[in-house]
Amino acid sequence: MARLVLTYAAVTLVPVVLLGAALVVSYQAEARGRGLAEGRSEALLVAQTAVEPRLTGRPLSDGLTPDELASMKALAKRSVGDHDVLRLRLRNLSGQVVFSDDGSGFKDRPEDEALDAAHGEVVARLTHLNADSDDVGPIGPEAVEVYEPLTAGSPERRVGVLEIYLPYGPISADVTASLHGLYRDLAAGLALLYLALFAISMSVSRRLRQQLRRNTYLAEHDPLTDLPNRTAFHRSGEVACEAARRDGSSLTIAIVDLDRFKEVNDTLGHHNGDRLLSELARRLSEFVRPGDAVARLGGDEFGLILPGIADPEPVLWLVRRVIAHEVSIGGLPLSVDASIGYVVAPEHGTDVDELLRLADVAMYVAKAQHAGVVRYDRAQNHYDPAKLTLMGELRQGIEADQLVLHYQPKVRVDDGRIDSVEALVRWQHPAHGLLAPDHFVPLAEQTDLIERLTGWVLTTALRDLVALGPAAAGLTMAVNVSARNLGRAGFADRVAQTLARAGAPADRLVIEMTETALLTDPAGAAAVLREVSALGVKVSIDDFGSGQTSLGYLSTLPIDELKIDRSLIADMLVNRAHGAIVRSVVDLGHNLELRVVAEGVERADILAALRSSRCDLAQGYLFARPMPIGQLASRLTSGSPPRTLEPSR
Ligand code: C2E
Ligand code: MG
Ligand code: MG
Repeated sequence: MARLVLTYAAVTLVPVVLLGAALVVSYQAEARGRGLAEGRSEALLVAQTAVEPRLTGRPLSDGLTPDELASMKALAKRSVGDHDVLRLRLRNLSGQVVFSDDGSGFKDRPEDEALDAAHGEVVARLTHLNADSDDVGPIGPEAVEVYEPLTAGSPERRVGVLEIYLPYGPISADVTASLHGLYRDLAAGLALLYLALFAISMSVSRRLRQQLRRNTYLAEHDPLTDLPNRTAFHRSGEVACEAARRDGSSLTIAIVDLDRFKEVNDTLGHHNGDRLLSELARRLSEFVRPGDAVARLGGDEFGLILPGIADPEPVLWLVRRVIAHEVSIGGLPLSVDASIGYVVAPEHGTDVDELLRLADVAMYVAKAQHAGVVRYDRAQNHYDPAKLTLMGELRQGIEADQLVLHYQPKVRVDDGRIDSVEALVRWQHPAHGLLAPDHFVPLAEQTDLIERLTGWVLTTALRDLVALGPAAAGLTMAVNVSARNLGRAGFADRVAQTLARAGAPADRLVIEMTETALLTDPAGAAAVLREVSALGVKVSIDDFGSGQTSLGYLSTLPIDELKIDRSLIADMLVNRAHGAIVRSVVDLGHNLELRVVAEGVERADILAALRSSRCDLAQGYLFARPMPIGQLASRLTSGSPPRTLEPSR
């Protein structure tokens, strides 16, 4: 701190000193100017009152008359004797010396200044006595040398030039006396300025440092638990890996995911869920040793870095017990289990990204097998390792923008006009190519990754919708949402923010929710759907007919659309029960004032049956497969009339 203050003091001093130096230089120039001006007026006075009255008016080139000469000698003797003048010469209009108090200068070449004065110009300069190249004798004191034109006679005319050296000492004493006062004021002013600048820069920099510290803290910490966040965890992991590599020691990285945390949130509210997370964060922080690291990686996921433990298994079982220890939330004794997956470096690798991915995989195994604590093992064959690895890769895939959206139109059954499109996610996997959502969405739904996935889909779909411009006027965009998305606090707020950021009106967004997803938490889902619907967003029940929603429950939901499950549509012409269900669902939907969509329409005869059942919309390969945005853009403008699709088979 002291060094910082010293640095500031020095840095602030620089401009003040520069300013002071500039002012001093300018004051001195000013003082010299004043000295010269004073010299000039003294010379003028001598010329007008002492020299000119002694001249008869003859040009000095004719030489001085004996009277003039005597009178000039007397004048010179007196004024040089009194030290009022250092040297006094008269020159003719050609610049030659015709009188000199000390006999000097008669042989010198006429000086330019003398010639200028002969033409009527007063020339004054600061010099020393005997400083001219023609002068002889030692250099004398500082002097103001003035060449003053002389006029005399009547009528008055220019007769010659007075060259006079006035002692600068008395003049400069006058000027510097007034300068001293000025310097004092200047020094006081600069000192005040310095203090003010120092104080301002100290306080501004203190505030900036505080802000910087705060921003750095926020960028690396989770605001709820105050634990380091994923970014900070990653960095600690890198440091710990490096240290382990150097020491040749081992390092354990563990990922801890709470089991059924969503139920705590749903039954006790998000506020109490947050309290539970804070309490567990506190316990984990207390549990670890100095040099270990604990972080909140997101949602209900924590990370641990434990260097130098030979056998981490018992330690991690202890972590699990610490977490499961009863905690009182809102007066209720609660206990949550956790699934922990871990890796050991260097055995499982030395790259932090890779280690975190593998620890994720081990955690998914722990979760799926209800195994508590699981060490990553390549040979794990109870689980489909490819899928688990994929899961670990998905997090990075989302960040690396490997997801893509394809859009499938929903068309009006009566005239084939495209009414809306559904965004369906795919993953352009670097090794496996384009992956269908069935390969990764169900896995993502088991963890908080689904949050990021849905966020990405929502943002991208709305951005694309806006980018389609007038070609898509009135078109709505449907996005699929998982049960876990609705379970997270603030879902409706996030949707509202995404709409605002994309600049899309709420009524052009449709949220598709499968009937089975609704059933995992009917009351909670209904509440969130009401919030979403209040924004103006439309709600559609996907795969309807595949679950067993009670009609009573259905009537309490703020829904706009029913999508009849593909399995019912596919065989509605051969399976009489399915045919009847389809017709009933269309009627039911209409009675509840909903639009009804048939999913998976692949054949013209099915389309005809849907038309006669008065189903509103159809979606399926018969009209179009899901397609990239570019293709959708051209489909919207082609067709006759535009924006209609012909059944293809
Ligand atoms: P879904 O929402 O019911 O989407 C319809 C699925 O049926 C799509 O499969 C679509 O390609 C397929 N399909 C459409 N027409 C036909 C047809 O005529 N015949 C047949 N056989 N299939 C047809 P896709 O794209 O593989 O998506 C599968 C499921 O993955 C979706 O079912 C949806 O539940 C889920 N999904 C897709 N994208 C997302 C997403 O962004 N978020 C979430 N949470 N789930 C998504
Ligand atoms: Mg859907
Ligand atoms: Mg569906």
